[in-house]
Amino acid sequence: MSETDTTNLRADLEAERGDLERRLTELTADGSAAPDFDENFADSAQVAAEQGENLSLAASLRDQLGDLVVALAKLDAGTYGTCEVCGEAIAPARLEAVPTARVCIAHA
Ligand SMILES: [Zn+2]
Repeated sequence: MSETDTTNLRADLEAERGDLERRLTELTADGSAAPDFDENFADSAQVAAEQGENLSLAASLRDQLGDLVVALAKLDAGTYGTCEVCGEAIAPARLEAVPTARVCIAHA
């Protein structure tokens, strides 16, 4: 991978990381707000359902964020694009589709 590619990739990953962090902050701010319980059971159930959705969305955002942090660390270490299982280079097409891929297609 050329230095220009690496620089572009890092910029993309860092932009995405910033975006994820912002969305997580927003979600967490919403989720930690005092629940707006109403005497109306339907409303309370709806609030609970929305909080559940926020929680699972936050969990998936945190997963993506973790993958991005790993990808950036691997860029720093010069091991980006190699499979964590077999050490072989991950196919460029796969990295293009999934820039945070940690394993080759055989070990996905
Ligand atoms: Zn592999």
